[in-house]
Amino acid sequence: MKAVFGFDRFRLVQEGICNASMDGRDIVGIMPTGGGKSLGYQLPALLVPGCTLVISPLLSLIADQIMHLREANVDAVMLTGATSKEESMHVYQRLQAMASGAPDAPDIKLCYVTPEKIAKSKTFTSALQKLYQVNKLARFVIDEAHCVSQQGHDFRPDYQKLSVLRQLFPNVPILALSATCPPAVLRDLLKTLRMPALVSGTAATPTGTVLFSAPLYRKNLHYAVLPKPASWRETIHVMTDYILKNHRNETGIVYCHSKKDAALVANDLYENSNHKILTGVYHSEVRDDEKQRLHERWRDGRVQVICATIAFGMGIDKGDVRFVIHHTKSLDGFYQESGRAGRDGKDADCVLYYRAQDATRIAAMTCGDHNGDDKVMSMIKFASDIEECRKIQFARYFSESSNLSLNSWETEEEDALARCGHCDNCTRPPESIERRDARLPAWQLLRLVSRQQFTMAQLCDLARGVGGGNAGAAGGGAKGKGKGRSKGKVAVDIEEVAGGKVELSKEQTEVLCVRLLVEGYLQMSYAPTAYSVNVYLEPSAKAARFTRFSRADIEQGKGPEFVCPFLKKVTKRTTAATTGTSAKKSHKASKGKSTPQSAKATPSG
Ligand code: ADP
Ligand code: MG
Repeated sequence: MKAVFGFDRFRLVQEGICNASMDGRDIVGIMPTGGGKSLGYQLPALLVPGCTLVISPLLSLIADQIMHLREANVDAVMLTGATSKEESMHVYQRLQAMASGAPDAPDIKLCYVTPEKIAKSKTFTSALQKLYQVNKLARFVIDEAHCVSQQGHDFRPDYQKLSVLRQLFPNVPILALSATCPPAVLRDLLKTLRMPALVSGTAATPTGTVLFSAPLYRKNLHYAVLPKPASWRETIHVMTDYILKNHRNETGIVYCHSKKDAALVANDLYENSNHKILTGVYHSEVRDDEKQRLHERWRDGRVQVICATIAFGMGIDKGDVRFVIHHTKSLDGFYQESGRAGRDGKDADCVLYYRAQDATRIAAMTCGDHNGDDKVMSMIKFASDIEECRKIQFARYFSESSNLSLNSWETEEEDALARCGHCDNCTRPPESIERRDARLPAWQLLRLVSRQQFTMAQLCDLARGVGGGNAGAAGGGAKGKGKGRSKGKVAVDIEEVAGGKVELSKEQTEVLCVRLLVEGYLQMSYAPTAYSVNVYLEPSAKAARFTRFSRADIEQGKGPEFVCPFLKKVTKRTTAATTGTSAKKSHKASKGKSTPQSAKATPSG
């Protein structure tokens, strides 16, 4: 390790992965982006005879690895769509020579391919077959292994075909590596790659897949969910402000929902500020040479902020990304993409702009995705939570209550479930949250949706008596929902159904709707139209816990407890959340000792 890679010591779970790899085990290795997953196979590859085959999703990732390996004088080759005929020929010849045991031919230690090579190239699989027959196929490495799973955020169909590896080469160990592998993805991954069930500890159990998992939390990343204004203009304004106040002239990425949004945001960030923010646009339809140019300009600082879809990122290794801003629809994606910040180990901000109305917007966008509902709910839960530490939320989400056996690595000073002390929720002054008994308004909202489905906007207006106290849900589109969903407008009498208006502001009513969704009292139903999908709120079975009571009962304290935390309106200058400086400032103040107490002393203002 020292001689070839120049590293003095192992990081995170690297040593465990290397050892298990040397033992020829099947392994799943989960480490944060930039954690050093590659060493887990590169070092064993050099120490054991034969060729390690690495499957990686992107050309750019492969090219980058090959470059680094060649710099370290490691014999690594690649076979991808971009490899020239002569180069491929040469690689095949060398593989052939290895298979026939030619004495003067040095082994190829590492061979990188994209997954379609396995899925589509008979020539290649037959070359592997020959290596296999003479025991020269050392291991398979599946990099970015979450791409195997439809439950993940970056599913790639060619990755599913990797199931043939175990079929064709049953004795070759598999090492699957990823930075984002929640339990559902992990289960899928094991199944698709035909890896055996997980076991804990390697010595006592000579077979089975060993799972290594390093804490995903990175101390230098400061997470915050910031309030997103209702209009596009205001949102751009808030983002410009945020960038100029906190990251003037620093490098960042803004992840947008769509290609169109990416282009608009890039334009508007530039146009909106007197101090022009130099932006670039990156998405799948940008021409390859443009992408290359943009990447270069971004790397050397001529472009400050890249506005992109999720097409941008995997394999980006710019160290000094100081902020990543999101308008995102998945928590996996938010985690993975924000991980591109602060790879140099210095402080960086990971910001999500969110407002309660996004909940159904996100749902509409992910409707039809595999397990879209679960994904949406995790995202909404995360974004709407103004109390729980972000680090703990991620830790829960990525490990859940799965009774997986983890060979996990513990940091010296903190365990996974201690609060980070520097995210938005850890640094929010307690007095900025108002915990209200929301039993009555919850009952009112549930009564209304029990009568008829509404969109969130309709429900909030109706409940607050906006528009004369009667609102109608647009009919049609619903999938045979029957009652109350006839064509046209159906009026619901708020006095009759809910005993009067809800006494909350518009924002608070939205927040309450989201709370009811998260707590499972409300659920969403989808009605596709020609252009989009309408998302309606309807009561779940659980709603009866409220709705079976009368208003008088509820007012007397019957029915379930329902407390809803609201953010108090604070004047602009003192709202940490609107300026977004909370994470950074408080972290700086509490550096070295990031306990919630020390963070609490600096509510940024
Ligand atoms: P990942 O694939 O997990 O995102 P990489 O394997 O690409 O991460 O490694 C990220 C960076 O960390 C690389 O620059 C690598 O050289 C460096 N690195 C990996 N392991 C160590 C180590 N033990 N000590 C120091 N640097 C390391
Ligand atoms: Mg990697």
